[in-house]
Amino acid sequence: MPLKRKRARAIKRETIEMILEASRDVHPNEFGAILRAEEGVITEIMLLPGTISGSRSAIFQLHMLPIDFTVVGTAHSHPSGSISPSGADIAFFQKFGYIHIITGVPFDKDSWRAFDLYGEPINLEVVD
Ligand SMILES: [Zn+2]
Repeated sequence: MPLKRKRARAIKRETIEMILEASRDVHPNEFGAILRAEEGVITEIMLLPGTISGSRSAIFQLHMLPIDFTVVGTAHSHPSGSISPSGADIAFFQKFGYIHIITGVPFDKDSWRAFDLYGEPINLEVVD
């Protein structure tokens, strides 16, 4: 049975701000988290137990994921500053979730983009 992937059309302003702030805090290491949504709006991030933030890439330990149908995707930072998914990112996106946020230096309000599971940019509205 194919995995049914949950979509989201928007993110709460405080949630994207929290992701950018966390990205800044762990810089120059990489930040990684799971995104949860309610009724199509991303409202919460969840750090995985055992998520490793290395200087090269955050490793999402999917076997540690609780069964949680509010999960829609992931967020991670690119300490390099490039806000484009790497080949490894896209391979990962296709295994899990639907919406993937990447943040980059300097982690201000414009330093992020959302991508679908193929690594194509998608429009994610910011709502209050
Ligand atoms: Zn990446």
